[in-house]
Amino acid sequence: MQGAFAEHVRALEASGARTRLVRTESDLDGLDGLVLPGGESTTMTMLMERVGLLAPLRHAIEKGLPVLATCAGMIVLAREVTDAMAGQEGMGLLDIKVRRNGYGRQVDSFEAGLQIDGIGDRDFPGVFIRAPLVESIGDARVIASYEGHPVAVKQGHITALCFHPELSGDLRLHREFVRMAANGSAR
Ligand code: GLN
Repeated sequence: MQGAFAEHVRALEASGARTRLVRTESDLDGLDGLVLPGGESTTMTMLMERVGLLAPLRHAIEKGLPVLATCAGMIVLAREVTDAMAGQEGMGLLDIKVRRNGYGRQVDSFEAGLQIDGIGDRDFPGVFIRAPLVESIGDARVIASYEGHPVAVKQGHITALCFHPELSGDLRLHREFVRMAANGSAR
């Protein structure tokens, strides 16, 4: 609907996947996995609601569609959003409480080397852009942290990141997601 989808398409195709942009309910048919990109969570949710995509998307994720959610995508899925826009609510599919723009506006963007479980020992270049801050976490598992806060979490078939792997030039997270979605291992 909005945000950094073109960069994800490039990273997914470079990781061996075929891609389709999801703009309507029927675009969800037959998908092995879905990326919810970064961008602006309020705009995304509003547009999805307007075109009738929000409810079918929720249903597909509840049924086990593997999801890679980055930044705004993480906010869209969250159980609780603080500093939300009026009327903005997470979909409640990911058991985290997240603060929009929680890293502070004075440091709008930064890069940090991250150790992420399951993708090898080499640091992953984490690109943070007006990133959400994970304030607390329920059922989800932390797979990477930065300065004491989770920045990558996994809950069943959902992987959610505070940063933008599609802008990092490092394909390890996309490759892992494509592998997982292709195996249907989480379903
Ligand atoms: N601050 C944005 C939001 O609240 C997220 C920023 C991003 O996706 N890079 O949706």
